[in-house]
Amino acid sequence: MTQRDPRYDILFEQVPIGPVTARNRFYQVPHCNGMGHVRPNTLAAMRGIKAEGGWAVVCTEEVEIHANSDNGLAAEGRLWDDGDIPALAKMAAAVHEHGALAGIELVHGGYSSANHYSRIPPIAPSVASVNSYDPVQARAMTKADIRDFRKWHRQAALRGKQAGFDLVYVYAGHNLTLLMHFLSRRFNQRTDEYGGSLENRVRLFREVLEETKEAVGDRCAVAVRFAVDELLGPKGITAENEGREVIEMLAELPDLWDVNISEWENDSATSRFEKEGYQEPYIGFVKSLTSKPVVGVGRYTSPDTMVSLIQRGVMDLIGAARPSIADPFLPKKIEEGRLDEIRECIGCNICVAGDWLAVPMRCTQNPTMGEEWRRGWHPEHIEPSRSDEGVLVVGGGPAGLECALALGQRGYRVMLAEASEELGGRVSRESRLPGLAEWGRVRDYRATLLEKQENVTLYRGSKLSAEDILEFSAKDQFGFSHVLLATGATWRRDGIAREHREPILGLDHMTVLTPDDLMDGVSASGNVVIFDDEHYYMGGVLAEKLRLDVHEVRLVTPAPDISNWTHHTMEQGRIQTRLLELGVELAPQHNLVSVHSGEVELACVFTDRRTRHVCDTLVLVTERLPNNTLYHQLQSNPEGLAQAGIKTLRCIGDCFAPGIIAAAVHSGHLAARELEAEAPGEVPFLRERVVVLNEI
Ligand code: ADP
Ligand code: SF4
Repeated sequence: MTQRDPRYDILFEQVPIGPVTARNRFYQVPHCNGMGHVRPNTLAAMRGIKAEGGWAVVCTEEVEIHANSDNGLAAEGRLWDDGDIPALAKMAAAVHEHGALAGIELVHGGYSSANHYSRIPPIAPSVASVNSYDPVQARAMTKADIRDFRKWHRQAALRGKQAGFDLVYVYAGHNLTLLMHFLSRRFNQRTDEYGGSLENRVRLFREVLEETKEAVGDRCAVAVRFAVDELLGPKGITAENEGREVIEMLAELPDLWDVNISEWENDSATSRFEKEGYQEPYIGFVKSLTSKPVVGVGRYTSPDTMVSLIQRGVMDLIGAARPSIADPFLPKKIEEGRLDEIRECIGCNICVAGDWLAVPMRCTQNPTMGEEWRRGWHPEHIEPSRSDEGVLVVGGGPAGLECALALGQRGYRVMLAEASEELGGRVSRESRLPGLAEWGRVRDYRATLLEKQENVTLYRGSKLSAEDILEFSAKDQFGFSHVLLATGATWRRDGIAREHREPILGLDHMTVLTPDDLMDGVSASGNVVIFDDEHYYMGGVLAEKLRLDVHEVRLVTPAPDISNWTHHTMEQGRIQTRLLELGVELAPQHNLVSVHSGEVELACVFTDRRTRHVCDTLVLVTERLPNNTLYHQLQSNPEGLAQAGIKTLRCIGDCFAPGIIAAAVHSGHLAARELEAEAPGEVPFLRERVVVLNEI
């Protein structure tokens, strides 16, 4: 084992937190995951692996304290009564098994919970519409409601302690919490002792904090999560004014300050908009006001930056949600001097999308995320190979790289052939688009480890034909029995996608470019119209690129807004704002109906009202077609395959089914795990079923 660099010793110092002690400075802050109370086994396995990976503290996601705060379909934690204790106890036990502390983040969502399931009218400091577009209003809390809320919080803290947690949170971070609503002048218009002055608006926060300490503080540390800035300027809480004053007022009351910025999309900003350490300017002052340990986040993956944060007195514990998802073993790798093995988060928020979609979160970088329990996948261990047969992987994009790496780790003799001189496929090309540079980490992590893997040979600049494959497999020096094709996909240039199932009329009158053309360096000319019927990031990114190249750009999409799927990655607002600020003409809720010489015809998706617009270059961001010619050529030659001794022929990644990068990585990993393994059952993973009792 390699030795840890002494420069990083400081990261492995113990940190006392009230009555408990963190074994080092790595702290997995609370984060949602689409598992929650709906999938307790999935949750426990995922959190346990992080503890195994060396995190000193591993926290839950937000855990609802009462049916009065019900997140409906969202799969969050739940501690409404004693019946919810065992599920959470399972997680705490999994964390303890590997010597880490378990933290629980208690929440009441106030006006942020529409309570669709419980059907209890939500509560808030003052009357307020819920913060979604649901036709629900929260009612103003009476004094009796305030007493009830305090009682529920106390009970939940006791239940958390009973479940085995070592840290209990009082949560006033993000705008999703009742305590934040009380703090906020925007939502608190009360005229009693809980409203008006900041002293009054802090009152409930202080009471709950004191009561939580009194209830569980003998054995549990009481942590506070607080958003010091809402990035709303004078309309909200700011680090210069009330954010600072709240910390001054409560400085020594909690055992730990976990500080961040609000809303969640600001807290978990993507790498397209914010770089590592983006929260430091806001939270940097906190340590000067308290003697209690401080934890902060900022998508930290660099151990040198972490050391600097400690040495400069910015924080005592390095908080992480996404870096711990991308690499649950990040602390262990630093501890063991294996820095080049760190799988750095790329800041894409695909993990967040899992939570919004209420399915176990996935991760672009870490294909085992969410699969720990249901498929038994571990991020650091993989089943050894069952034979000494060779495997050829064709294509070095995310699917091929991940597949070759996982197969190499299984012990197979692997050959990876990539047509281009550059590895990475689509991630290399896309990482050159504005804001997407960090996506190159998908390639870098894998390429670095593949170079070190002695049983894997990389062939760059090797575009293989079906004949090449059959010929090479027969040759002794190559000799492989399994062929996995990761040859990617190509953007269509006929406009076919959701709106058009037939080619768009008149495309031969116009210069038509696809995202592939633009990434290959083909230049657009004159006025550009982009038709986006794909709806993730590509249309918006290309609009940004072309506008920066000083074209007049009109972005047309049938969806209600630009890059609509990026609501799930919490980027949509920033994308649309950036494009408007750059001067891109936006035409949401419009379809491209026909193309003419020098102009395109659009139609309103509701009224079909037509308009014509000048256009010199049309960019079509629609569907992609799998590059599966090689597969069909080989598959239609069973005799050739048999003669060459090829037993497995399989497409993976985009060449199997075009999708997001996370899907390609997962597909490559799955194929590597499944090679020569027993056939999976009818459903290839475990499910957490609702247990139906015969008698209640
Ligand atoms: P995925 O996302 O599925 O990994 P990509 O499009 O990112 O797909 O990568 C596919 C890679 O396969 C590209 O780098 C491409 O150059 C390579 N490739 C395609 N066809 C061949 C071939 N016949 N031989 C070798 N490499 C190929
Ligand atoms: Fe990071 Fe993306 Fe993985 Fe989330 S999905 S942890 S943002 S790499």
